[in-house]
Amino acid sequence: MGNSSVFVSGATGFIAQHVIKQLIEKGYKVVGSVRTEAKGQNIQKNFGSENFKYEIVEDLETVGAFDKALKNHPEVTIFMHTASPVTWSVQDNEKDIILPAINGTVNALKAINATSPQIEKVIITSSIVTQFSFSNRSALTNENSWNDITYDQAKETGSAAYHGSKTFAEKAAVEFVEKEKPSFSVSTVHPVFVFGPQVFDSEAKGQLNVTNTFISDLLNLKKGQSDETPVPKIMGSFVDVRDVAKAHLIEIEKPTNGLRVIAQCEDFNSQKLLNIINDNFPALNLVKGDPSSTSISDRNVDDSKSREYLGLQYISLEASVVDTVQQYVTVNKLL
Ligand code: NAP
Repeated sequence: MGNSSVFVSGATGFIAQHVIKQLIEKGYKVVGSVRTEAKGQNIQKNFGSENFKYEIVEDLETVGAFDKALKNHPEVTIFMHTASPVTWSVQDNEKDIILPAINGTVNALKAINATSPQIEKVIITSSIVTQFSFSNRSALTNENSWNDITYDQAKETGSAAYHGSKTFAEKAAVEFVEKEKPSFSVSTVHPVFVFGPQVFDSEAKGQLNVTNTFISDLLNLKKGQSDETPVPKIMGSFVDVRDVAKAHLIEIEKPTNGLRVIAQCEDFNSQKLLNIINDNFPALNLVKGDPSSTSISDRNVDDSKSREYLGLQYISLEASVVDTVQQYVTVNKLL
């Protein structure tokens, strides 16, 4: 499959760029969709490979948004849908988070069905949030579980909107397959919180993608200046972006047989991240917090089937945080 062509929606994204990098390294040709010409030129310059081309899809939500891009590339046989809003703070939760996720997914599937009979596989970047229970934090999460969030609940906060956006988008994909019975297969990847370095240093300047800010925000906790600043109380499960990209590539070559593949390595909380940064970058002179406060009572997740399917030796939290901070500190000249 190494010389097949893969369409990657949302090619400017943190995860998508790692997916594209690994695809090119394995000999695939890639067509990425971006929202503007300037973004396309920038990413093409960064990859500097004749195996990367871009197409402009200005608005995921326009009916037929992907039609032209796909018609231009009859060589594409695999479609990866990664584009979706990843944010918790917007003006309008429904308009800015929920609807683009659902409509973007449906538009992509409709376009493939209508224009590209040669496409065999669609791989959607979903999320562990589609498998969490919204009503009961201690419920078991596994490859079969589904988020029970309602549409009204999803509109209430930015975080709920993100849960809803991914859940309703994935359900829309399941319904599409049931109703349209397309000739392509649809599978999903379900990462937990994703950390890790950006593919290109230029992307590590200033504000990072949302999940990496859990790490970069800690770099503001300077001793002396902010001794009173509490260490944030974020906790969850983490996976490195390079492993998330690998999971996408594995789904190209190995049928999932309906497994909604979870990509997760280990649990973290902000104190654990801070300890890793302090151990490895003492010159940053950050507050210590309470180094022993690393016990984490996160959700009850059984991802054993996914671990068996993926067979990955996951990059550890420590290695991921060190690589992320090293790049951020160097690029932003913090030391
Ligand atoms: P990211 O860096 O913010 O990338 C998001 C991508 O989607 C960008 O290419 C962005 O385009 C595009 N996009 C967002 N809203 C859009 C809209 N309304 N119309 C068109 N394009 C839009 O996020 P990421 O972390 O790489 O996430 C990529 C995928 O992984 C998403 O589907 C996300 O839900 C999923 N995921 C992420 C995590 C995580 O922890 N990061 C965990 C689980 C699942 P622009 O660059 O033009 O804005």
